[in-house]
Amino acid sequence: MQTPLKIAVVGSGLVGSLLAIYLKKAGHIVHIYDRSPDIRKITFSGRSINLAMSNRGWKALDGVGIGDAIRDIAIPMEKRAIHLVDKLNFQAYGQEGEAIYSISRGILNRKMIDLAEAAGAVFFFDQKIWDVTLKEATLHAGETERGAWEEKKYDMVFGADGAFSRIRHRMQRQSMFNYSQEFLNIGYKELNIPANADGTHKLDKNSFHIWPRGQYMLIALPNLDGSFTCTLFMPFEGENSFDSLKEIQDVERFFETNFPDSIEVIPMLTEDFFKNPTSTLVTMKCFPWTFEDKVALIGDACHAIVPFYGQGMNAGFEDISVLYDMMQKYGDDWETIFSEYQDSRKPNADAIAELSYRNFMEMSSKTADDTFLLQKKIEKLFSEKHPEKWIPLYSRVTFSDRPYAEALAIGDLQNEIMQKVLKTKNIEEIWDSEEIEAKILALLSEN
Ligand SMILES: Cc1cc2nc3c(=O)[nH]c(=O)nc-3n(C[C@H](O)[C@H](O)[C@H](O)COP(=O)(O)OP(=O)(O)OC[C@H]3O[C@@H](n4cnc5c(N)ncnc54)[C@H](O)[C@@H]3O)c2cc1C
Repeated sequence: MQTPLKIAVVGSGLVGSLLAIYLKKAGHIVHIYDRSPDIRKITFSGRSINLAMSNRGWKALDGVGIGDAIRDIAIPMEKRAIHLVDKLNFQAYGQEGEAIYSISRGILNRKMIDLAEAAGAVFFFDQKIWDVTLKEATLHAGETERGAWEEKKYDMVFGADGAFSRIRHRMQRQSMFNYSQEFLNIGYKELNIPANADGTHKLDKNSFHIWPRGQYMLIALPNLDGSFTCTLFMPFEGENSFDSLKEIQDVERFFETNFPDSIEVIPMLTEDFFKNPTSTLVTMKCFPWTFEDKVALIGDACHAIVPFYGQGMNAGFEDISVLYDMMQKYGDDWETIFSEYQDSRKPNADAIAELSYRNFMEMSSKTADDTFLLQKKIEKLFSEKHPEKWIPLYSRVTFSDRPYAEALAIGDLQNEIMQKVLKTKNIEEIWDSEEIEAKILALLSEN
């Protein structure tokens, strides 16, 4: 047990609300500020965008005993359904029983706020935090940036205020603070596949659906109400781009040609296409993440990544697991807690940023490539036979809690081995033979 402190968390998003539950568990007074209204009081369809939760996320939720409450609102997806122009393939994500889980961001956030409130955290909505005095852990809140601000003094402040964090903004103005931000030239737009009249799903509900088309792709994740949320990722400019789809007919023609089997399940295609915004994707890195024993960044506020590995929230939740481990290890020594937390997380945040960036090509191109699918089959078979020797990269990231940095390094090594194996004569015929198994074992022993 730590000495109780008065702690402010800025941001009642997924990371801020889970952090609040952990801080309450450790016995602190916890106040959470969010610039937005209470998400529980806003009407939303319940569809909104959805997220894939995997092992790291579940571990953090189970760590405060709320995993089962969240499992009630999640749909397992054990495979990819890969929609090629002329056929549909399925590819299991992991071993039997392993799945990622589709959850509506809105429903999840509401539930987490309810749970944090039940744990004793106090929420303040419609409270815009404009600045923080780092040395005094004092927040400055007000209606407008140039209007009057009110001071809120705490013992400690956590910035869980997302990729464009104001808390980080203040830390950036210190000397020796490193910061980089890079926008992708690919944007995204949400579309919707409604439920059948009887409330059932129009596509297989236990799959992560993907229409890989090289420079662009469409994905769809199931919702509890029978609908799917689709996301179209594509370049802003160029031949097949958001910029090239200006008229209703452009969009219709584009979908008929490229996603023919999606046409009949997205009835509001053109309405949604022109009504819904086109959003940007950013990778943000920074360091340090903490200031003395007073202020710490967590979640997207210190590591925003592109969404192609489905790990942003999972990584933010893992920050909390690691922080809590440090709290248990170092008691009231918050300076050490913060320093160990940021040193342990930073290389892993960088690694998942890199893996996420690379995974766009895997999702949008390689899932349509026969050699890649063969590679995955060989890896899966080998890892089933030698689980202690080979955990495929996707499984290491998604179904384990081994460090992301380790996954990146081992994944690169495995890929080198597989590229050699794929060059074997007649590999398509002998991929599941003892010869190939022996070859992989030999290549592994060389490293
Ligand atoms: C298209 C897309 C798909 C994604 N899919 C996945 C996925 O499948 N799996 C996954 O794990 N992750 C996914 N992510 C990433 C995930 O959404 C983020 O990592 C996660 O939401 C980060 O949570 P957070 O609480 O750190 O920040 P946020 O969710 O951004 O929350 C920040 C909160 O802070 C508040 N706030 C901001 N500024 C202020 C201020 N000045 N004063 C007061 N309050 C403030 C905001 O209102 C907000 O409530 C996806 C992201 C995108 C864009």
